[in-house]
Amino acid sequence: MILTLSPSGLTTYQECPTKFLYSNVKRLRQLEEKRDKMDRGSLFHKMLEKHYTGIINKVSLNEIVLEVTNYARETYRNDEYNDIEMVEACIANYQEYAIYYADDGYEPLAAEVPFSRVIYSSDLHKIVIEGIIDLICRKVQNSIATDLIVDHKTSDKNDLHPTILGNQFKAYAWATEKNVVIKNDIGFQKSYGPADRFHRHVLNYTKEHLEEWRESVIYHGLELINFIEKDYFPMREASCWRCSFRKICESTPDSREWKIKSIYKTGEPHDIFARS
Ligand code: SF4
Repeated sequence: MILTLSPSGLTTYQECPTKFLYSNVKRLRQLEEKRDKMDRGSLFHKMLEKHYTGIINKVSLNEIVLEVTNYARETYRNDEYNDIEMVEACIANYQEYAIYYADDGYEPLAAEVPFSRVIYSSDLHKIVIEGIIDLICRKVQNSIATDLIVDHKTSDKNDLHPTILGNQFKAYAWATEKNVVIKNDIGFQKSYGPADRFHRHVLNYTKEHLEEWRESVIYHGLELINFIEKDYFPMREASCWRCSFRKICESTPDSREWKIKSIYKTGEPHDIFARS
């Protein structure tokens, strides 16, 4: 069996195998969700993708800002995003961001870079980690060029104690064999100036960190394959208070299929279990 996992899928599985079943295998979505609208984070990520693609293509900053602004307003007109205030907040924040980092010394090399790398392979199974990196940049310091992995994070709060822990950043560092990941925090606090809202945190990894992570991913991946083969996804009831599938798990075991049909629709099947 070939098991393909994204960093977020891996985190969902580690939280609760049942949650992984509902979210990543059955891909359940609430019936009342009429369509998938972009949230603020998704919209801002799209805007930054366009921003850095423009810089890579040597478009002038003025043109880029105009184009990105028009794109954001277009999403509102196209009804992809229904909150005009939020769209305008994204535009205002983006325009400040573009000016604030205009001469930051980071040379963007590629935006939205997909990766897919085998983390484990045996005669029976293969485990693949895949994802998309927001941005790869080059920074030159003292005549030494370093390529950096950048991940954009939008938030309403300052991250005062950024951590190197977490599947996403470690997956990026492991997949690209880089020992530095930049967490590009973009705050949305209305009363703060740009210097208090925009922070770039440097997350440093050693080979030992990444090897330790690799071993734990293999352990969890093989455990998940075992559950898939047995068609048994146990409930790990440690984070139920913030889980969107609570209504299913709270119902009696024999009524769960009915509950799923009455509240959820099934998304497009996701081929994480392609068999070799
Ligand atoms: S409600 Fe709890 S047991 Fe059920 S899927 Fe969510 S985390 Fe798992």
